[in-house]
Amino acid sequence: MSKQSKRREALVYHAKPTPGKIKVVPTKKHGSQRDLSLAYSPGVAEPCLEIAKDVNNVYKYTTKGNLVAVITNGTAVLGLGNIGPEASKPVMEGKGLLFKIFADIDVFDIEIGTEDVEEFIQTVKNISPTFGGINLEDIKAPEAFEIERRLKEELDIPLMHDDQHGTAIISAAALLNALELADKKIDEVRVVVSGAGAAAISCTRLYQAFGVKRENVVMTDSKGVIRQDRENLSSEKAEFATHLDLHTLDDAFVNADVFIGLSTSNIVTPEMLLSMADNPIVFAMANPDPEIDYNLAINTRKDIIMATGRSDHPNQVNNVLGFPYIFRGALDVRATKINEEMKMAAVRALAKLAKESVPEQVNIAYGETRLTFGRDYIIPKPFDPRLIATVPPEVAKAAIESGVAKHKIDDWDKYEEELLE
Ligand code: NAP
Ligand code: MG
Repeated sequence: MSKQSKRREALVYHAKPTPGKIKVVPTKKHGSQRDLSLAYSPGVAEPCLEIAKDVNNVYKYTTKGNLVAVITNGTAVLGLGNIGPEASKPVMEGKGLLFKIFADIDVFDIEIGTEDVEEFIQTVKNISPTFGGINLEDIKAPEAFEIERRLKEELDIPLMHDDQHGTAIISAAALLNALELADKKIDEVRVVVSGAGAAAISCTRLYQAFGVKRENVVMTDSKGVIRQDRENLSSEKAEFATHLDLHTLDDAFVNADVFIGLSTSNIVTPEMLLSMADNPIVFAMANPDPEIDYNLAINTRKDIIMATGRSDHPNQVNNVLGFPYIFRGALDVRATKINEEMKMAAVRALAKLAKESVPEQVNIAYGETRLTFGRDYIIPKPFDPRLIATVPPEVAKAAIESGVAKHKIDDWDKYEEELLE
């Protein structure tokens, strides 16, 4: 398909038959006067009074417990940059669609018209009573760090900035499996991270939680290696500044075991790959074009284990493997946060699932004959129907065990069955 016809197809998809991708549908009977008197006045006063008496009843009588707000200000949308709140709306509606089809979670997309951190935080706080959870989306760094940190502290519903943690969770699962295949130990590998933005910082922090040593990480940004002697580093960059005498990305690559690309397209050369250690792990995740072209990379190193952000190559690091299931688990136990334990549980569940034998319907969905755990299959595929019964229970258990769940689940078999319905 030509670029022009792809563009047309996307525009028609969004415009017809009705503009946009999502709508609100009543879930109760509404055909008679009696139904209406229950749905609205006077009947509606009864649940209002119950909730006024005990605010927890809001979960019993309203949609709150299954309603997530996907919130942005449009400052870092996909790879498109700061395109503003209205222009970001198709992305947020798309996220709503994904939440719905993969985890049956309803979404209101909220596009806020401010770039001011304080105003943004206040707006989210003020509308939070409506929602069971909040997915922050496409907010630029460094503001995104402060916004998420503050809101996590000040709200008691699960909240996650998906561009940071979604990517971290999926790529960490891929990393654990890639390390296993490459027969490398996580606490020994040397890691080069290209990019020091929202995604790169959060990914590196999560890899550390799994055992990557800070002294084995070299991070680069648009100015080169982030060294301790560089001036005016943000606190996030300073966290990963190296004392080593490395200056360029080329320097950083020599003998590295792992490359994590969350920066920009085509900045990695075959020579850099050739300078890496045996069985190099290369996750070139810049979108839409990776740090190095997939085919160029695999033709350069036969022993490479490669992942990208693209669906047209194996091992796509796709956030849709995470957010629907993380929020499903968090909502189902009314978690007050999404904490490290819950994120790590999601990582382990995803990594484990990739090692189990793949159902035929997944092979068919992807036109594959035999997907098996190996270099070309280190993370599950988005249309894997096992995800919904695999990831949320682990997230929910982690929430309970780490003490952030307000609701307990006792019968886990029953919960898994309900998830599959
Ligand atoms: P961001 O916050 O804007 O960060 C971008 C980072 O890349 C910045 O630290 C920037 O350096 C750095 N950078 C820019 N040009 C560079 C260059 N030539 N060499 C080295 N570093 C360079 O963006 P983000 O949200 O973290 O996303 C970064 C990239 O990852 C995007 O391409 C995005 O599409 C991709 N991504 C992919 C996935 C996925 O595959 N699932 C998920 C999330 C993000 P300065 O700090 O010096 O400006
Ligand atoms: Mg995003």
